[in-house]
Amino acid sequence: MKLLNAASDEQARQFELLQAYLRTLQQQSPFVKTALLVTQHRLEENTAFFRRVFVCPAELQLSFIQARKFIALDGTFLKAHFQQTLLLAACVDTNNHYLLVAWGVVESENTESWKWFLDNLKNAIPQILDASISSDRDKGLLAAEDILGNNIVRLFCLEHLRRNFVNSFTKEYDGLFWRIAHSTTLDDYEAAITVLRLEKPSAAAYLEALDQRMWIAAFIPGGPSRRYGQKTSNPVEVMNQVLRNARELSIADPLMEIWHTTMEMRFQRANQANSVIIGQTFTPFCHRILLQERENALRNIVRMADNYHGLVQSPAQISYVVDLERHTCTCHRFQDTNIPCQHGIACILTLRHRIDSYVSHEFLVTTWKRTYSHNFPPIILPEALRHPPFHAPIPLQPTPEPQPNVLPPLPLQLANLLPEAQPYHNPLISKNNTLRSGHSVRLMHLTLER
Ligand SMILES: [Zn+2]
Repeated sequence: MKLLNAASDEQARQFELLQAYLRTLQQQSPFVKTALLVTQHRLEENTAFFRRVFVCPAELQLSFIQARKFIALDGTFLKAHFQQTLLLAACVDTNNHYLLVAWGVVESENTESWKWFLDNLKNAIPQILDASISSDRDKGLLAAEDILGNNIVRLFCLEHLRRNFVNSFTKEYDGLFWRIAHSTTLDDYEAAITVLRLEKPSAAAYLEALDQRMWIAAFIPGGPSRRYGQKTSNPVEVMNQVLRNARELSIADPLMEIWHTTMEMRFQRANQANSVIIGQTFTPFCHRILLQERENALRNIVRMADNYHGLVQSPAQISYVVDLERHTCTCHRFQDTNIPCQHGIACILTLRHRIDSYVSHEFLVTTWKRTYSHNFPPIILPEALRHPPFHAPIPLQPTPEPQPNVLPPLPLQLANLLPEAQPYHNPLISKNNTLRSGHSVRLMHLTLER
């Protein structure tokens, strides 16, 4: 194999390692979902281009089924010489912590690469079709509608939207921005946007140009509870911090790093879930909210109409109507969070009902435990692949552009070369200076000798 235009031998080797890495993944974690797209660009030169890779461990599909039906999408540059882009998808567990469910590396962030990523995500986790998708990536949200269908609830990352708005119109209108975003009725929205129209018509026009269904509570299809209380795409930013070092290297390293960071995080979460005291029904996140709301509930005055409907007056003399049959309150917190608000709890206590019978099953400790009941194994590359030089020919299937290329089975000759797995030592860490030298190229050419 000859390498053309490679920034460095070490980086070029990383691309060679990629296919071997994916085979190793499938050997050591047989149900992992992976996809690799390699484009045979110039047939006459037999030159191939790496384009995209996707990874989703099977255990993450099982976790998503137990988690809240919310997916945050994000993308970030890989800072290595090849300038690829990392795409990430994360969900929220029943203890309100983010959990990575799939990742991929693509040539750049564009509508086509997002479509490819989401198509693979949909195949790996079909249950995402019932989820809400949140992102600050317009191209990701655009692709989501095409690939995941009209029923998917697409949401802007509110914090990102607010930052752009404040940067354009100063912080003065920050309060009005949140008032509009949190409007749960058409009347609330009209009142808030009218104030902004009078104070700053251009700012109102800016917000009115946005798709209301993607950020204003009153217009979100299925109701504001489809946001699951998540205002940001923060989870992926957290993962970006974890990847700070791995991003500096090349493609196989971030994939290894994400795998093991997620694996370790899952083990810690499993331990947390299993250490909840016996008798506690709900996750610590839900438990804390219930304790606080219950304490506040005792200060309200309740007048019940029947076994379901009550009028609740707060210490500030504000009245709320609670419907225990539909799990709603005119303060909107009950239906937004699926956890009874203080007014709901005031009614429940008056009726001498059990509070836990009004809390969604999604917050049960047992659900939380099931989310992390199975973890995926640590992965190491076989010895022969970890130490250069590596000259084993890697077959690249000629494919018409751009067809997703399902990973071919391991060729018999290569399988025979692989020794038993050994503890992993990353040779790149100690060769950081070597890695950082050279210049940037977008794509690396792999030329195969016949
Ligand atoms: Zn309420």
